[in-house]
Amino acid sequence: MSQWETVIGLEVHVQLATRSKIFSGAATAYGAEPNTQACAVDLGMPGTLPVMNAQAVELAIRFGLAVGATVAERSVFARKNYFYPDLPKGYQISQYELPVVVGGGLNVRLDDGSSKFVQLTRAHLEEDAGKSVHDAFHAETGVDLNRAGTPLLEIVSDPVLGSAAEAVAYLKTLHTLVRWLEVSDGNMQEGSFRCDANVSVRRKGEPLGTRAEIKNVNSFRFVEKAIDYEIERQIRLIESGGQVVQETRLFDAHKGETRSMRGKESAHDYRYFPDPDLPPLVIAAADIERARAQMPELPEARRQRYIDALGLTEYDASLLTADRIVCEFFETLIAALPEQAKLCANWVLGEWLGALNANALTPDTSPISAERLGSLLQRIVDGSLSSKMGKQVFEELWHSDESADAVIERLGLKQVSDTGALAAVVDEIIAANSKQVEQFRAGNEKLLQFFVGQAMKATRGQANPAQLNELLKAKLA
Ligand code: ADP
Ligand code: MG
Repeated sequence: MSQWETVIGLEVHVQLATRSKIFSGAATAYGAEPNTQACAVDLGMPGTLPVMNAQAVELAIRFGLAVGATVAERSVFARKNYFYPDLPKGYQISQYELPVVVGGGLNVRLDDGSSKFVQLTRAHLEEDAGKSVHDAFHAETGVDLNRAGTPLLEIVSDPVLGSAAEAVAYLKTLHTLVRWLEVSDGNMQEGSFRCDANVSVRRKGEPLGTRAEIKNVNSFRFVEKAIDYEIERQIRLIESGGQVVQETRLFDAHKGETRSMRGKESAHDYRYFPDPDLPPLVIAAADIERARAQMPELPEARRQRYIDALGLTEYDASLLTADRIVCEFFETLIAALPEQAKLCANWVLGEWLGALNANALTPDTSPISAERLGSLLQRIVDGSLSSKMGKQVFEELWHSDESADAVIERLGLKQVSDTGALAAVVDEIIAANSKQVEQFRAGNEKLLQFFVGQAMKATRGQANPAQLNELLKAKLA
């Protein structure tokens, strides 16, 4: 097997976060009644004219700059002609020879800790088609055109990915980035982020092999399975004397296999030509500069800053920067607790994400805001709460609107860290246990635990352990 090398290039369709379609004013909202959100422009009715959605262009520019690509000051829309029931106008408006974003790349971190730069070929603007609906009518197929004209950015990578795992790592990095940039909501169940995987194999040193394209896989797990299946299939085919044919294949998630769908069209089959209804897309240099000035700190840079400036581990920094909303939550926390990055990271990644997961909630629907969690952590930092009590307060905050201080007050949880009060408790215990004091002073240091236990009992567990230890040691010496 090891004489074989895998080559993968991905085409990712990202639905742009605009409220209206790419060339019309119809809504893009997901889940509407079939055929209520496609207007005459989306259907290409005679006499209608498409008008470019400026927001879609802005999002394409933002993406291009974030991956270090060239944003073309002039790009061209082309008609890609083909017949399919979900495309009533007979062509899709896309970009072909002159796309809006050229080149660029993504630094992808792999599971073994190394990283790989994945060169992008291009990213172009295009409209989505409608969709065939197979389960609405008995023995008939319906067509829902709500998706027609939905703005997409198709992001094409060079054929440089070497395994299914690398392909998935690349996809996850890209998914984080487009959500981070608010270019797309990235919702994979709703089809806002879907991927065609081009896969070929070759013996080491040979030129690129013939590829098969696996269409429209919409989960990371399925991409990995589909690619691994395809690699095996192609190697077995070639080793048994066969040849890979260039074709489009579908992944069957139930069977875990890919199946031939149709022979792959070549570009010339589509009879691409510039769309006569749309002028070239001209982007002013000033618009590119404005987008550059508004660029947020990118996940990669932020991750490095967390390691270098905040002293977080690579692991924590990676988890915190994998999602913009999680990361902004953490940013709000450390703004309130600037010296406590590690504590904040532990609570965000441990208690908070854990509670969200356990309750099947997402970060944007958290019942605890970063501000409320911040005031709870403040009480741990100033010694009023042990971290164990902190977790108890967290539980209460999760189920109510109370502030951390109100919960602490109500449950009488305040840790006794007032040295005066603790000292009095310690004095009493020493006075009441003279035998143990003698034994301790004679060298039985294990008895320290006995005194700690007595003090905890006297304060109903609310003594600050660090202060208690210090006081006991001083007074027993
Ligand atoms: P098309 O638009 O017809 O699908 P492209 O040449 O634009 O074809 O390539 C699309 C994708 O296929 C790109 O991501 C590219 O990296 C990938 N690709 C091209 N050739 C190969 C190959 N031999 N093996 C694997 N991937 C390939
Ligand atoms: Mg393609």
